[in-house]
Amino acid sequence: MKKPTLFLVDLDNTLLNNDAVKAEIRKSLITVLGQSDAQHFWDHYNAIRTKTNLVDFPSAIKKYCEEKNAKTCDIRLKKIFHSINFKQALYPNVENVLNHLKTKGEVALFTEGDMIYQKVKIEKSGVGAMVNHIYHFEHKLEHFEAIKKKFHTYHIVVIDDRSETLMKLKALYPEITIVEVCQGHYSDVDHKPHPELDKTIESIGDLLHRKL
Ligand SMILES: [Mg+2]
Repeated sequence: MKKPTLFLVDLDNTLLNNDAVKAEIRKSLITVLGQSDAQHFWDHYNAIRTKTNLVDFPSAIKKYCEEKNAKTCDIRLKKIFHSINFKQALYPNVENVLNHLKTKGEVALFTEGDMIYQKVKIEKSGVGAMVNHIYHFEHKLEHFEAIKKKFHTYHIVVIDDRSETLMKLKALYPEITIVEVCQGHYSDVDHKPHPELDKTIESIGDLLHRKL
C-alpha cells in the first residue's frame, strides 16, 4: 500500500519573500533612526545572529534600545515590524499551491526563527491558516528526527529554498524527497542544480504544474 505523504514546507523565501520584508525593514529603520543608528542596529542583529545562529529581531531591538535608554525606542522599532504587510509578501499562488498539496497529503509549515516575530509572520501572512500543522523552532533541523518519528508511516517531502539545509537532510535521510526552490538570496549564491536533491524548481508556484 502506498504511504500517505507529509509535506514539510519552509516559510522564509519559500512561501514568503523574506528578502523583500527585510529590505522594507532596512528602509524603515533608516527613516526612523537615520543611517548611522540603523547600521548600529544591524550590528547588534548580526552579532546575535553569529552568536546564536538565529534571526532574532526582538533581541536586537532589546539590545539596541537598552543602549539608547529612550522610552519610545522599543515602541518605534516594534511598530516597523508590525506595520509590514506580510500577506502581500507571499509569493504568487502560495494559497493555491498549499491547497493543491493538501489534496495530495498533509501539509505542515516547517520554519525556524525567533519565537515572537516569526510567529507574527506565520499568523499575519495567513500561512498559519493554510496548513494542517505548524512546526516552528529556533533551529528546525534539530527537530526533524522527532517529526519523522511522529509521522513514521508517512513519506516525507521537504520543500525549502536553502540548499545547505536540504543537503544535510538528504545526507541523513536519503529516503525523504527533497524539493529545492530557487528563490531568495541563498539561491543567488548557490543557483545550480544539485544532483543529490530530488527536484529543483524556480518558484513555489511551479508546484501547481509539477508532479511530485
Ligand atoms: Mg528559507
